[in-house]
Amino acid sequence: MSTKPKVFDYIVIGAGSGGLLVAVGLQKLGKRVAVISKNIGGDCTHFGCIPSKTLIHLSKEYQACHDLAVRKQIKTTALQQVGKKVASFASEEKELLSNEVYFMGSAEFVNKNTIQVSTADSVQLLSFTKKCIIATGSAPVRTTVTGIPASKLITNEEFFYLDSLPKSITIFGGGPIGAELASACARFGIETYLLSKSYLAREPEEISRRSLQSLIDLGVKYIPARAESLKNKELLLDTGATIPETELYLSAIGRIPNTDFNLEQAAVEYDKKGIVINQNLVTTNSHIFAIGDCTHSPQFTHLAANHGKFVLKKILLPFSSRRDRALPRVTFVSPTIASVGELEVKDHHRVFVLDFAKTDRGRTNFDTLSYGEVVVDLHSGAITGASLFGDFSEDLINVVTLIIDEKISVLSLADFMTPYPTYANVFHTLSLEYLNYLTQNWKTSPIQTGIQLLAYALK
Ligand SMILES: Cc1cc2nc3c(=O)[nH]c(=O)nc-3n(C[C@H](O)[C@H](O)[C@H](O)COP(=O)(O)OP(=O)(O)OC[C@H]3O[C@@H](n4cnc5c(N)ncnc54)[C@H](O)[C@@H]3O)c2cc1C
Repeated sequence: MSTKPKVFDYIVIGAGSGGLLVAVGLQKLGKRVAVISKNIGGDCTHFGCIPSKTLIHLSKEYQACHDLAVRKQIKTTALQQVGKKVASFASEEKELLSNEVYFMGSAEFVNKNTIQVSTADSVQLLSFTKKCIIATGSAPVRTTVTGIPASKLITNEEFFYLDSLPKSITIFGGGPIGAELASACARFGIETYLLSKSYLAREPEEISRRSLQSLIDLGVKYIPARAESLKNKELLLDTGATIPETELYLSAIGRIPNTDFNLEQAAVEYDKKGIVINQNLVTTNSHIFAIGDCTHSPQFTHLAANHGKFVLKKILLPFSSRRDRALPRVTFVSPTIASVGELEVKDHHRVFVLDFAKTDRGRTNFDTLSYGEVVVDLHSGAITGASLFGDFSEDLINVVTLIIDEKISVLSLADFMTPYPTYANVFHTLSLEYLNYLTQNWKTSPIQTGIQLLAYALK
């Protein structure tokens, strides 16, 4: 190993959703940047969003197809198709970085500004003079269940790379990853068990309940328990119940931030939940940013990318500061669930139901399932959070995100024009319901109600 480090102005560690965006941005700006990563594209491309959404799409095609030969073809080639899609994204992403910029390998801090890059057959040192950006992402929590051989207990990192889809599967974990994969497997006609103490627990209770029912209707067998051990080919649960043996077991019980690369040497603090950062994404070492899944932040591709964009802005315009924005999320189950903002209901908040199924569009679609909830701050008339259940929700949530970000009052939505008949027509009903609520309860906070009504009248 050469002991003299190669010197760069900027070093990015991790070339996934966040890090790749920063590295490409700095490269385009003509900065001296190096990016060290085990792969290009990160979890989203290789083990997450791209393979899961491709598989979900193919499972819907399979379910909708009535030609038996075509159906068989879709199912037997599904994982191959997933692999091709991943490869096409990965090769496009690789093209974005020039060879001089990319150092493939595993990074480890040696001191505050020097990083060792190790590959199977070489070790070299790189150092930075200006800033380092850590974007190392997260990894699935790996678990063992007594009696289940390690080869049968896999995570998302192995699932998309199987030779073929299994005949039966038990998925541990009722979070978004477990729920999405359970829905895809069930649509392919795979005998699917979803085993978890809770199901999409971050969503409003009514939405989780409806979504679970839809999953069960798709054919998923839901078992509300945790796995303990496998005896005599039967998996024992903490409830004392058992489930039959399946061909594979998929663990989707959570994710841990990737922080195991000598951060202590760089004086970067972290804990079990990830790297500690301030509002401007700076770590406890003022020369080092941390972004995306490896921090305390929620784990989404769009958030990692949003972090990356801010870091670029901060490097170009050091006086800029980061604005708090509403964070939307989508769980691609059937129907889709999309949520945004703060769903916690405080004293001065009220939940309003969005009865999408009763909108004219819902009625012409014979829709009896779609549903939503919004949380409104009664002091200001602003929406603080919303959760929508229906296949339209992955697009409609963007409108709600804008409404929250721009602090648009619910009352203003009364004359906000939405094409007829669309599910967005529900905002007029919401606005009128809110107006009705305010006028009937004005005595609770007369001044705040008066201000809201006056602002509405003058707009
Ligand atoms: C099954 C699944 C489905 C998902 N679906 C969605 C979705 O639909 N929408 C959504 O928004 N999010 C989704 N996610 C989450 C999304 O993939 C992550 O939030 C996103 O990839 C995080 O980006 P990142 O830049 O923080 O990390 P990553 O994209 O994971 O990138 C981290 C990079 O750092 C590298 N690395 C790690 N440690 C080191 C080291 N020591 N040295 C060198 N390199 C290192 C890794 O190899 C990787 O290339 C999904 C995740 C999974 C698992």
